Amino acid sequence: MIKTLFKKDALAGLIEAVRKDGGEFVAPTLVARQASYKAVTDAAAIETDYIVPQNSFKEVLFPQSEAIATFKEAGTNMAGVEVNAKDTVVFGSRPCDAASVASLRSVFTWDFVDEFYTTREDKAVVISIACTKGDSSCFCTSVGLAPDATEGSDVLLRETEDGDFSAEAVTDKGKTFVKKHKDVFTTCKAAKEIAIFEPVKLDKVDLDKVGESLADTTHYDNDKMWGDIARKCIGCGACTYSCPTCHCFDIVDEGSFFEGERRKNWDACQFDFFTLHASGHNPRDTQYKRWRNRFMCKFKIYPGKFKTKGCVGCGRCVRVCPVRLDITEVMEELS
Ligand code: SF4
Ligand code: SF4
Repeated sequence: MIKTLFKKDALAGLIEAVRKDGGEFVAPTLVARQASYKAVTDAAAIETDYIVPQNSFKEVLFPQSEAIATFKEAGTNMAGVEVNAKDTVVFGSRPCDAASVASLRSVFTWDFVDEFYTTREDKAVVISIACTKGDSSCFCTSVGLAPDATEGSDVLLRETEDGDFSAEAVTDKGKTFVKKHKDVFTTCKAAKEIAIFEPVKLDKVDLDKVGESLADTTHYDNDKMWGDIARKCIGCGACTYSCPTCHCFDIVDEGSFFEGERRKNWDACQFDFFTLHASGHNPRDTQYKRWRNRFMCKFKIYPGKFKTKGCVGCGRCVRVCPVRLDITEVMEELS
């Protein structure tokens, strides 16, 4: 494995080089006192003191709302729109977030290739920074990842004791990027790396048992556990919107009868009208069914159908839940 040195003070030059080529540089920056992935133009705006940014960078690849077609006269004269995608560098991602890219791709290329997603992902270079600190909500090691996992990162940086980074180009895309910016990624002089944070492994969680339990549908409707868990849930959708692997969207026509756009907007399985049919029937008419669905999606459907991870252990859903529902407690219960 060849490593290079990425000096922190080279960040400004890298941002400038990416932007000069017409690209965008996305990195954690403070928004309302919380680190959030946003496009930045200035290295000074990049926040370095964070565990995981409060949003995931899926919104770079899969925007919260985007036009996918235009229409005139209510559904007639439909025209497609070009994917509005720039070459983008996502800098300072955490390895858990980077691992979610494979999960999103597996969904967006499953029965239909969503070019809005794939074009953006193909144009993105993910530069992750291995975690040297975490909190009690982090559990990547319990879902088969690690704070320095390379899965999904094009380049993985590890902090060094002198405040810089050693850089490992992981993918061909990453290698090309490092080569292109060789004035920034210089030869490494055996810099000493800071120790990687070790999240507490949830010893009561066994993902195989979680999968087996969810596959056994004999207790699907009868298990009191779902009702007990979901009683607190207010269906706000914060867990799904903040989750790097949640990918549900709705398509709506916006505008007037005469002219408008067909838009793809994020949606959330925790909303009561998410599965509401035009007939009025709602197959997930109570919150426990919606919660159970979220679990099925993450621990049965993703690994079974797509062979990817439905949960990368970032802990965001635990941190944002206003009623402190904790996904790891359910994983333990099912184990
Ligand atoms: S389910 Fe929760 S912990 Fe798992 S990836 Fe989504 S937000 Fe992160
Ligand atoms: S964040 Fe908490 S309260 Fe909101 S939908 Fe998710 S589990 Fe329910």
